[in-house]
Amino acid sequence: MIAFGAHPDDCDLGAGGLAAKYAAQGHKVKFVSLTNGDAGHQSQHGEELAKRRRAEAQEAGRRIGIEYEVLDNHDGKLLPTLDVREQVIREIRQWKADIVIAPRPNDYHPDHRYTGVLVQDASYMVIVPNLVTDTPPLTRNPVFLYYSDRFTRPQPFRPDIIVSIDDVFDKKVSMLDAHVSQFYEWLPWTVGQLQQVPTDPVERKKWLAGRPEVARNLPPEWRQAAQKRYGGQGSHIQHVESFEITEYGYQPTEEEILKLFPFFPHR
Ligand SMILES: [Zn+2]
Repeated sequence: MIAFGAHPDDCDLGAGGLAAKYAAQGHKVKFVSLTNGDAGHQSQHGEELAKRRRAEAQEAGRRIGIEYEVLDNHDGKLLPTLDVREQVIREIRQWKADIVIAPRPNDYHPDHRYTGVLVQDASYMVIVPNLVTDTPPLTRNPVFLYYSDRFTRPQPFRPDIIVSIDDVFDKKVSMLDAHVSQFYEWLPWTVGQLQQVPTDPVERKKWLAGRPEVARNLPPEWRQAAQKRYGGQGSHIQHVESFEITEYGYQPTEEEILKLFPFFPHR
């Protein structure tokens, strides 16, 4: 599996639990941040911030046993250029990915939006031999998934795959906890909550685990979709990650879905 985010922490929020589950089963997982995160902070910037963000991402990956790469495109300035598209094609090919995850191209943040466009534009092109000739093409288009989001236009996210992350929730929080400059400094500052962040490392990690974007409690409207995969156990699930299968990649059958997501109880 390979997941793309615009910033060092995006993949972690959207698929950190799924990644931890795959890694625990011995599957290879890679997170790629398309920008180096050198803009999103209230007091640091440029090379100094990029260096810190890269180190945080490395530590986050280490904590759940996956690879993490931060590309050197500038934060807040990502555009869907041919150059970046080729970077994405190269990453997917080198990883020989079966599953590729990206944001939907209708996110609020232009960097997220263009990450969605770039990965969408790379799908299919990953099998075309005459493009990016320095890296052998894939023989089959991977399955492309979207992270879940709250945007409703032009259409709301559809939870095709709901995965309980209760068994790896602590691992996911530990991964997010590595992104100190994001979760304890920048993001609370953007919403005027910097004063609420505990200074004690243990306390602040607990605080982080309770944030709604981290906790991702199963919403009532997804209960039916969760029950489809988990049966009666679906009603006990607390924390989830959900994914939508895009129309641009390989379209897996129900049987293939169970093979690609070997986490659901046998029923
Ligand atoms: Zn982001």
